[in-house]
Amino acid sequence: MFEKNKSLLWRYFILIIGLLSIFLIWLNPSVYLKGKEKLELDVYTNYKEPGYSASFLLKDLTSKVIVTSNIDNQKLGTYEVRYDLSYGAYHTKKTRYVNVIDRKKPIISLKGESSVSVCPSKSYVEEGYKAEDNYDGDITEKVKLEVNKNEIKYTVKDNSNNEASMTRKIIYEDKEAPTLTINGNNIINVYLGTTYEEPGYTATDNCEGDITDNVTISGSVDTNTVGEYTLTYSVSDKNKNMSTITRKVKVIKKDTPIGSGDGKVIYLTFDDGPSASITPYILQILKEENVKATFFVINHDDSLNYLIKQESDDGHTVALHSYTHDYSYIYSSVDNYFEDLTAIQNKVKSITGKKSTVIRFPGGASNTVSRKYQSGIMTTLSKEVVNKGYNYFDWNVDSDDAGGARNKEAVYQNVVNNLYYQNNVILMHDFENNYKTLEALRDIIQYGKQNGYVFKAITDNTPPSRHAVNN
Ligand code: ZN
Repeated sequence: MFEKNKSLLWRYFILIIGLLSIFLIWLNPSVYLKGKEKLELDVYTNYKEPGYSASFLLKDLTSKVIVTSNIDNQKLGTYEVRYDLSYGAYHTKKTRYVNVIDRKKPIISLKGESSVSVCPSKSYVEEGYKAEDNYDGDITEKVKLEVNKNEIKYTVKDNSNNEASMTRKIIYEDKEAPTLTINGNNIINVYLGTTYEEPGYTATDNCEGDITDNVTISGSVDTNTVGEYTLTYSVSDKNKNMSTITRKVKVIKKDTPIGSGDGKVIYLTFDDGPSASITPYILQILKEENVKATFFVINHDDSLNYLIKQESDDGHTVALHSYTHDYSYIYSSVDNYFEDLTAIQNKVKSITGKKSTVIRFPGGASNTVSRKYQSGIMTTLSKEVVNKGYNYFDWNVDSDDAGGARNKEAVYQNVVNNLYYQNNVILMHDFENNYKTLEALRDIIQYGKQNGYVFKAITDNTPPSRHAVNN
C-alpha cells in the first residue's frame, strides 16, 4: 500500500515539475524565426533576412533582438545568423544556418564550328574547347569527351557537381571541288606546222590530295590549220565534285608577230628627249625594273648628250626621231626630211658609236599636218625611208601624254586600258617637265609584269607597227 502511494506521489511530482517548466518557458522571453532555420544562398548573391519576432509575457521585444552573422557570400560554406535577445536578467538566442552554395552550371565553349564537315576518308581533328565555371573558374581540364561517329559530346562537372554538356556534329562529306590549275598561259600561240606542246596542269583535292592523274583534256589542236582551238581540262574527285578550266591555243602563221613566251610584248617608247628633268629618272626606273625601252631622240643641247650615251649603255635602243622636229621644215620637201634625219643619225652615232636605223616620223606616218607643207609627202617618205634601209615605227597604244592626259592616272589608264594581246608599241614622251609620264611609268611596268607581258626594246627585227598614211 505504501509502495503504491509512493509511486503515485512520484507521478504527481513529475507532473508538477513539467507544468512548472512550461510556465518557466512561457515566462522566458522568446525569439521566433520566420522562414526556414536552414537556408540555402547562391554564391555571390546577397543574404535577405526572412524576418523574426520576439516577445515576453505578450510584450513585443522584436526591436531588442540583436542580429549578427558571419556570412561570406563569396565563399561556399555553412554560416550562422544569430539572434540575441537580452531582457532584464533573461537572455535568449536563436540561430539560423545559411548554406552558401554553387548551383550554376559551367559553360563549355567550342573552338571552331559546332557542326563541321570532314572528308569522308579522314577523322576530325579536335579544334579545342574551354570550360569555365562561375565559382571554380577555368575547369577545361575536367572536360570529358565522348567521341561517337557523328558527334562529339563534351561534358564537365564543377566542384559542386553542376554538369554542363555540348555537342559538336561531325558531318562526313566532300562538297569542295578540286583545285585545277594549268601551267603556262590560258592563251597560247603556236606557229603553223609546228607541234603544240602541252605545258601541263595540276589538280589537288581537299580530301584526296594530288589527283593530277585524273585530269582529262577534251579538244585538240590542229597545228596544220590556222585557227583558234579550245582545250578543256576537267577533273572530278570521288564525290563527283568537278572543276574545269579551258585554254585557247591559236595556230598562227609564221609571219604573225609573236614575242617570247606567249607573245605578250610591250615596247615602251619615249619621244622628243632627252631632257634633264625627266630622262635620267626614266632611266633609273627602267634599270630598277630591269626593263628595256626605246628612245626616239631629237637634237638638244650637247650638254644632254650623256643621256643618249647612257640610254645606249643601259641596253636601250636609241632610235631616230628628228634633228629639228620642225614640221614646216622637214615636211616641206623630201630632201629636207632626209637632211634632218641624217643630222640626227650622225649625232647619235657620234655619241653611241652605233648607226641607228630605227626611226619614227614626227607626228607619225599617219600625220596630216604635213599636208600643209607638201601634199603626198608622207606617201613618198614612208616608201623612201624603207628603200634607204630605215625601219619606221608608229605606235598602237597612245598614252596621250603630249595631248589630253593631264596627270599620271590618265597616262596610266590610257596605256593599260588599251593594251593588245600581243605587240604593244606605246607612245610616251620624255620631253622636259613631263612628270606625269615619269610618275606613271613604274605602275605601267608593274601592270605589264603582273599581266604576263614582257618588255622589249625595238630593234630592226621587231615586227613593224605602222599607221595608215593619210597624206
Ligand atoms: Zn615628236
